Amino acid sequence: MDLKAIKARDWRARCLICGAHFGYADGFECPSQPGHHTVEMKTYYHLGAGHIQSVRDRRGFKVALNLKADREVRDKITGEITGISGLIVHTKESGIYETSDPEEQYYLDFHSSVMTGEEGKVEWDKMYLTPQQQLEKAQAKLADTQRQVREQNALLLETKARANKEKNALPV
Ligand SMILES: [Zn+2]
Repeated sequence: MDLKAIKARDWRARCLICGAHFGYADGFECPSQPGHHTVEMKTYYHLGAGHIQSVRDRRGFKVALNLKADREVRDKITGEITGISGLIVHTKESGIYETSDPEEQYYLDFHSSVMTGEEGKVEWDKMYLTPQQQLEKAQAKLADTQRQVREQNALLLETKARANKEKNALPV
């Protein structure tokens, strides 16, 4: 079994509606609502806009992802052929797709063209932000860190000052 197959076998999610923990083999149908379970919303980043030279133009990049092919299934007893429709999702502009549908997440989690989480966001920035925008973002992040450090220092000084005051107030 390859790594991808092992990961697919171990894939688990939790429904926010009925509370069930489930995997692919359990199916995606929810007992508490029509259709699929509802899981925590997840954002996927499609990183296939690299062929577009201008970074600004990449913002218009949209793509349809074919997650599951259409299939025909023959019933073993009746011989009746039923079509099972596939699953196609369309990203928003700049290759972003958000979903709380577990079946979509299942296929997207193993899709080679998309990434998710913090790692995906970092790659998305590289693909869809101009160097100037990336710089501004880094500077904003740095300013935020510096502000937090200043606040912590101020708090520390305040605590020290209070401790000194209490010490000096002690009767000798
Ligand atoms: Zn459910």
